[in-house]
Amino acid sequence: MSVIIGGIESFTTVDFPGKLAAVLFCLGCPLRCPYCHNPELQDFKAKPFISWQTFIEFLDSRKNLLDGIIFSGGEPLAQPDLYESMKTVKEKGFSIGLHTSGVNPERLKQVLPLLDWVGFDVKTLFDVYEQRIPHAMGRTVENCLDLLIDSNVELEVRTTLDPRVISKQELKELSSILYDKGVKTYALQEYRSHRFEQNPPSFQECKAFFTDNALLSEIKSLFKNFIIRRA
Ligand code: SF4
Repeated sequence: MSVIIGGIESFTTVDFPGKLAAVLFCLGCPLRCPYCHNPELQDFKAKPFISWQTFIEFLDSRKNLLDGIIFSGGEPLAQPDLYESMKTVKEKGFSIGLHTSGVNPERLKQVLPLLDWVGFDVKTLFDVYEQRIPHAMGRTVENCLDLLIDSNVELEVRTTLDPRVISKQELKELSSILYDKGVKTYALQEYRSHRFEQNPPSFQECKAFFTDNALLSEIKSLFKNFIIRRA
């Protein structure tokens, strides 16, 4: 039993802090973020990219060349066999990273002991999640975040600044909530339009987050590590 694989990035130096890694993209995501760059990975019934066995052969060929594997998506926490797959990878000597939007606290609890690093998407204020992201539940996301903070696993929280999903005022409030929860590393990511998009927000609206120096300084002051990722 294993995760279903929607894609592989065989080498990255930037996705798993301090490690040479590969990314395994799990197939299927229950959410529908308007800015999703991987809509082809949303469908749980799409054709897998490769089999688990082929991935294991890839792993065996990368021993001593890679430090870690990041389970990304799609949404890894939507995969029933995530624990077994991560355990297999860990037993082969690789560190385990997870990119997640926090859709399943029970599955997160199960895999938590295997995790070395997590990149966790918080898309907007927990109270307005259901209004902004189809099929998302703010309390579920918040539960997952609380589990990660309590676990002391290395954690980066990140928010993609799409004005359809979060406003500047909401970003300010969210930053304060994350600070109160004990988040130490927070990254703001620039929204990038993609080829499937029907009504993208304007360039000016998106840029406004990054030209508000007062807002950025205020957020920066809250976190030990503050990262801005521009496209
Ligand atoms: S959580 Fe990620 S994969 Fe799922 S719809 Fe949103 S951006 Fe796409």
